[in-house]
Order: sequence, then C-alpha cells, then structure tokens
Amino acid sequence: RDDLRGRSPYGAPQLDVPVQLNTNENPYPPTPELVEDLAQAVRRAGAGLNRYPDRDAVELRKDLADYLGHGLTAENLWAANGSNEIIQQILQAFGGPGRSALGFEPSYSMHSIIAGSTSTRWIAAEREADFGLDPARAIAVIEAHEPDLVFLTSPNNPTGTALPLDVIAEVLAVAPGMVVVDEAYAEFARAGTASALSLLPGHDRLIVTRTMSKAFAMAGTRVGYLAAHPAVIDALLLVRLPYHLSALTQAAARVALAHRETLLGTVDALRAERDATVEWLRGRGLRVADSDANFVLFGEFGDRHDVWRRLLDRGVLIREVGPEGWLRVTIGTPEEMAAFRAALTEVIQ
Ligand code: PLP
Repeated sequence: RDDLRGRSPYGAPQLDVPVQLNTNENPYPPTPELVEDLAQAVRRAGAGLNRYPDRDAVELRKDLADYLGHGLTAENLWAANGSNEIIQQILQAFGGPGRSALGFEPSYSMHSIIAGSTSTRWIAAEREADFGLDPARAIAVIEAHEPDLVFLTSPNNPTGTALPLDVIAEVLAVAPGMVVVDEAYAEFARAGTASALSLLPGHDRLIVTRTMSKAFAMAGTRVGYLAAHPAVIDALLLVRLPYHLSALTQAAARVALAHRETLLGTVDALRAERDATVEWLRGRGLRVADSDANFVLFGEFGDRHDVWRRLLDRGVLIREVGPEGWLRVTIGTPEEMAAFRAALTEVIQ
C-alpha cells in the first residue's frame, strides 16, 4: 500500500494518529441529529437503489443555489464527487491536448496534477513574497502566456491568502479563456472578504468552485460544486460520466444543506482558534502567513521534515507543503490545538 502511495502525485499521508491536522477537514463530526437525518435519507434513497440516480442532480443543485444566494438558480450550479472531480471536469471540458492552464504557486497541487492527467499544459506562475498577487505582474504573465484557463484560489491553499475582489476582476478582464476561482475555504474568510460569486452576473467565462468537505464537515460524502453561466454547465455535460453522483451522495448532501445552520455554526469557533494559533505561532518568533482559511502556514525551518517527523512522533500529524521550510497545520478542536502547541513547544525549544 505504501508503495502504491509513493507513486501517487498527491502526497497527503493518511495515518492513524491521535491528532490529525493535515488535510484541512472540519474537526467536528456530524451531530447525532444530523446522523439520524442522514440515516433516514439513506433509508429513503435505499428503497430506490435499483434505479440510476438523477444524473442532473436537479434537487441538489436547487438546494445549492438557495444556499449560495447571489441570484443564482439551479441552471448556474453543477455538482460532482468533491471539487476535485469538479476541477477534473473543468479541465476535461476546457483544457486538454494543445491547451494550457496557468496557476499562481504555491497553491493547491491538484490543479496542476489534474492538468497533467488531462494533458493540459501547466504554466506555473508565482505568487508574491507575501503569498498575494500583484495585479500588474499577474496580468503581465497572463498576457505573455494566453492560457486557456487561469486558476485563482481564494482563500489559497496552503497559504490561507484571500484575494481582493478587484484583483480577480482585473484577471477576468484580461484572461483570454476561463477563469476558475477555487473557493473551497470561502466560509472561513474573515469579514469583508467578498466572494467571486458576486462577479458572476455578466461574466460567462468565470467559474467559482466550492466544496462541502471543509466548512460543511462532509469530506467523507465527497460533494463539490461550481457556480457559472449555464453555457459552462452545458460544456461539462459533454465530459461528465452519466450518473456520476450517486443517489446516496445526493441525498446526504441535501440533508447537510438542510442542517447548514448547525454545520456552519462550527466556523466561528474554528476562525477564533485559527486567529489564536496565528498569534501563538508569531509569539514563538515564527513567520506565519495571514490566513482566511481553516489552516495556517508557518515557518521557516532549516529542516521542516525533521520538525514534521518529531511532531508525528508525539502523535500530531500536520502537513509538509508549501515553500521549502514551511509547514501547514489544519485548525482542529481546542484540545487538538493544545496538543499541537505542546508538541511544537517541545520540538522547537
Ligand atoms: N480545492 C482546494 C483549494 C482544496 O484545498 C481542496 C482540498 O483540500 C479541494 C479543492 C478538494 O476538495 P474536495 O475534493 O474534497 O471537494
């Protein structure tokens, strides 16, 4: 199994240790009420499992549109097995042999990995030293390469950086093809951070992707989605596999959306824990990236692998990702963060 993992370009270790702060999940499991509603929904869907699911996931898309607001309707929404599959469908539809996609790194590695697996040429542009984008430099690199797709991630993984809306608008104005704004962590952004969803009216080359794996605490269900002009969704229909989203997945996602008040109720606590973590790490004299997400990137270590390994020896799994020398910790429960702080104190003293 380890041999097979070594061959996968996606490198997050899945280890059974007490404190797992490495894949940006929400640490709070579903409440008993949600589990009960899920069980009932599975029972209802189970009675019809001899039939294929709704291949257009119409009810789920209506619920997602209702959640997002911004005047969006089911025709603007599309869902798949995690936003990873959403990204794959986007690259299958708009990328491919002879086409290119550009992203600003460090960023979410699956953008370039899926570009590679769809034979889309990947153009790695760079973020600034503060992990943000300088509009003039971003525009220059887009004009130089004329990519078929531009990936912006806001808040960005692994840095936590949110992009101001005017920077996204400037990119949209010059990009010759599709602009994908990956907003997997949107719900964790600090007050005043606008979503690219507000730019959708009138922009038919903009795609905003989201997920239920993070703030919604449903990573195991595998539901990602996008909002875009209906013509974008028509293009995805040409590449999606029919019945890609199981009836059980659709039912579970709809139950989670119905419970959104409770699920998203964990976001405030996670934001507060994040801000406290940033402050604590800075208090240790470390460099820490400002974060609008449910994780924090910090450094710089001469040998980050050694720090990562010694944290793991203490039962705390974080992630070796981002620029050399930096590490990323996902925000967990107060108890998990206390364990992280205690372990890191021992490791770096
Ligand atoms: N986009 C970003 C920026 C992510 O960090 C992740 C997961 O970590 C994803 C997309 C994929 O999420 P999922 O496939 O679980 O929806």
